[in-house]
Amino acid sequence: MNKIEEIYHNYSFWVKSSLSFIIIVDTIALRLNTQVVPFVILQYTWSISAVLMLILCIIGASPYIGYFKEMSFRKNSKQMVLNPNLIQLAEKMGIECSSFYLVENWNGASMYCDALSIGEILKSKLTEQELEAIVAHEFTHKIHEITHLILLFVGCFLSWIIAVLLGLGLPSIMYKVLLLSCVYLFVPQFCWFRELDCDENAIKYADKKDLQSGLIKYGEGRIHKYGFLHPSIAFRIADFKRIEKIWIRVFSSSKNRH
Ligand SMILES: [Zn+2]
Repeated sequence: MNKIEEIYHNYSFWVKSSLSFIIIVDTIALRLNTQVVPFVILQYTWSISAVLMLILCIIGASPYIGYFKEMSFRKNSKQMVLNPNLIQLAEKMGIECSSFYLVENWNGASMYCDALSIGEILKSKLTEQELEAIVAHEFTHKIHEITHLILLFVGCFLSWIIAVLLGLGLPSIMYKVLLLSCVYLFVPQFCWFRELDCDENAIKYADKKDLQSGLIKYGEGRIHKYGFLHPSIAFRIADFKRIEKIWIRVFSSSKNRH
């Protein structure tokens, strides 16, 4: 069972993205002409892709129903006092962090309603500096909350517009699968941007090397895994390098001007 779960978590994002792509391309082709034989074959590929997509989405959503139950995970957590370094970090970043929870059996971190939650597993892996870098990322989610929400809204709206334009006049079930595919293909980029933005802001308050090593420890064994909400850790670290290269270029060109 664990093996199946592992395969699902490692590949489902790319399988669902590919199926979404097939569904969208097939829909465009089907709208152009449904009488020619190759287009009849497209109807089959559309249907098979749609069924697979729905099955994968149902499997993917099922643990999240548990996850939302788990959102009350604070019952498995201890409320702690923030250590002085994190209090200082919150002050520096101008953020209100009213409480801090240490969550049992969890390898993660989140900032929700002014409360910071850190998994015990994650905390045990990180050095004090790495923890600060990860927390700076989490604090940025709170600081840039409104911008990120607007961005997510834009992504959803864009997907909806594309689905409406492509799906006008289609049977209701086809339109719903098309909408799901558009969301699956176009929204992740907007979600990934939030993570890159938080990383970029975090390295203004923490050492970039600490954020990199903290992320690698957090994503141990799955640093190449992409998800709907998060790009892979390897991609995030590569992005730091791109940011660094841009700054080196800007800095050296401004030095040359003087
Ligand atoms: Zn994040």
